[in-house]
Amino acid sequence: MQRYGVIDNKRKREIVLLRGRGCVYKKCAFCDYYLDSSKDDKANFEINKDTLDKVSGIYGDLEVINSGSVFELDDATLDYIDKVCREKGIRTLHFEAHYLYRHTIPQLRERFKDFDLKLKLGLETFDYHLREEVLRKGIAENNAKEISRGFDEVNLLFGLSGQSAESMQNDIQLALENFERVCVNIMCDNTTSVKPDKKVIREFMQVIYPAYIQNERVDMLINNTDFGVGD
Ligand code: SF4
Repeated sequence: MQRYGVIDNKRKREIVLLRGRGCVYKKCAFCDYYLDSSKDDKANFEINKDTLDKVSGIYGDLEVINSGSVFELDDATLDYIDKVCREKGIRTLHFEAHYLYRHTIPQLRERFKDFDLKLKLGLETFDYHLREEVLRKGIAENNAKEISRGFDEVNLLFGLSGQSAESMQNDIQLALENFERVCVNIMCDNTTSVKPDKKVIREFMQVIYPAYIQNERVDMLINNTDFGVGD
């Protein structure tokens, strides 16, 4: 498992994939990432410390992901993130969280108040039917402004049956209107029953990718290891 990477284009930053106690939600129909977890806080901390020790501070910007939400990281790891960021001169810190944690985010901002904190929401799509009936994302809200409240950045998931160039364009536009930055992920084959739709991915590559590849606020991951972490 590659746990440390450097993103050298658009918003330049280092990225670490840490290990937490495991996603408390675990219901998203397309996801098996949460398998990278352990209830053993001590063992997690050892892995996380080794990974965080690779951070150099080169861009003053660090993204922390953990196959779940930041709130599933142990306290020692959170303290160590704080320590490393201070020592390496990191000013901007990105974390991910599921929507169910939205009321806990202010406490996290207080804990890391010396940093510019960016919280990324795994939304996948603004299409309520696809998101809730098919993907089972657990975000019972239709209003884009309301969904974005408390979050700064958003993950979208493309390459699914039922999507089209028009729906993907609509998702990116709404995301750009309601969040600072957008990360588009293309569905990759995994152990779940949700499979990538090749026709939709072709449409994405022909229409959406060229339209947004130069946009500084849009990251696009064709493979889920494109940020240099994962396996
Ligand atoms: S996508 Fe995120 S919230 Fe959903 S099951 Fe996977 S790790 Fe949990």
